[in-house]
Amino acid sequence: MSKQASMVFKSDSLVNAMTVDVEDYFQVSAFERHIARDSWDKLPCRVERNTNRVLELFADHGVRATFFTLGWVAERYPCLIRHIVDAGHELACHGYNHVRVTEQTPVEFSTDVKQAKQLLEDISGCPVLGYRAASYSIGAKNLWALQVLAELGFQYSSSIYPVKHDLYGMPEAPRFRFRPVGAEDLQEFPITTVRFGGRNFPCGGGGYFRLLPYGVSRWAIARVNASERQSCIFYFHPWEIDPDQPRQKGISAKTRLRHYLNLSRMERRLDRLLRDFRWDTMANVFLTPS
Ligand SMILES: [Zn+2]
Repeated sequence: MSKQASMVFKSDSLVNAMTVDVEDYFQVSAFERHIARDSWDKLPCRVERNTNRVLELFADHGVRATFFTLGWVAERYPCLIRHIVDAGHELACHGYNHVRVTEQTPVEFSTDVKQAKQLLEDISGCPVLGYRAASYSIGAKNLWALQVLAELGFQYSSSIYPVKHDLYGMPEAPRFRFRPVGAEDLQEFPITTVRFGGRNFPCGGGGYFRLLPYGVSRWAIARVNASERQSCIFYFHPWEIDPDQPRQKGISAKTRLRHYLNLSRMERRLDRLLRDFRWDTMANVFLTPS
């Protein structure tokens, strides 16, 4: 696309929400059977360096984003948290220990999230309004979690992916913002999908963004913006721009493909994505009255 065409494309589109799930390469749910939580402290951490690189990338494009951050990371890297906030980004909560909500009782879930929210607020001095579940693990069987989030004072969650997937997803969920029954003080903002041939397809980032050519994601986001007049939510992780991270042994071929595919191309793709669309934080896109 020429520079001029890109500018026209950009000015026509809505503002979308850019989000980052701040966790390290060894904390992803796909590795949880291979890397014990009590070994995390002994592994070489790369999250600070990678998140700083993400901050540079956003600064280059004048983009503000929402950083859904693990309490575990915040506790070890308080300077990084202050750096995120000082650069004008929104700090939000990704739980403390990256345990999937499907693996927790309501009490365990509440304790984990409360601890992380408190830590993030103490370090940043800012109220934390948003939450995202580890691996989009809120779905039809545990919608009670949204009620817990409302009780803990969150204004929104972005934890449901309305797609059919082997590890997560609630394909029957609304595709755009909704107020959950029994937790009406909270809004859920599902990760963006594109509707095609009667099915929802992911277009909010993750492995799909690295697997498919960039043009597919660009087409899908533009379609949701132009045809449905809805802002999109895009997410990625700091470890996705780190092709030199240590390689995990003993994982399945599918997990290996999902985690490591095209890491070396990710930064370039993000660069195009940041240039091609307009981006802001979750709070600015969805909570600020227009
Ligand atoms: Zn995560």
